[in-house]
Amino acid sequence: MVGEIVMVTYKIEMDRLMCISCGNCVETCPDLWEMAEDGLSNLKNSEIDNDIQKKEIGDLGCSLEAAEKCPVLCITVFEDGAELV
Ligand code: SF4
Repeated sequence: MVGEIVMVTYKIEMDRLMCISCGNCVETCPDLWEMAEDGLSNLKNSEIDNDIQKKEIGDLGCSLEAAEKCPVLCITVFEDGAELV
């Protein structure tokens, strides 16, 4: 019998207005974050909507660690719409 493959969707949201430029997310997870020219963190290849950057990802990678290390909690990671961090 063939098992059913369940696809999980992960999404990151980051509120750039809250970012204090500490660099933790970039240091922890450079695959997903970089410092932008305006001095704030930038979620790479994301869409932006009212200063909220959004990006869907295929796997969590280092996103949870980055969210946990953000001192102002401006990074949120969702699994199928439910908040993980
Ligand atoms: S960890 Fe949070 S406050 Fe620090 S640079 Fe990243 S988004 Fe900004």
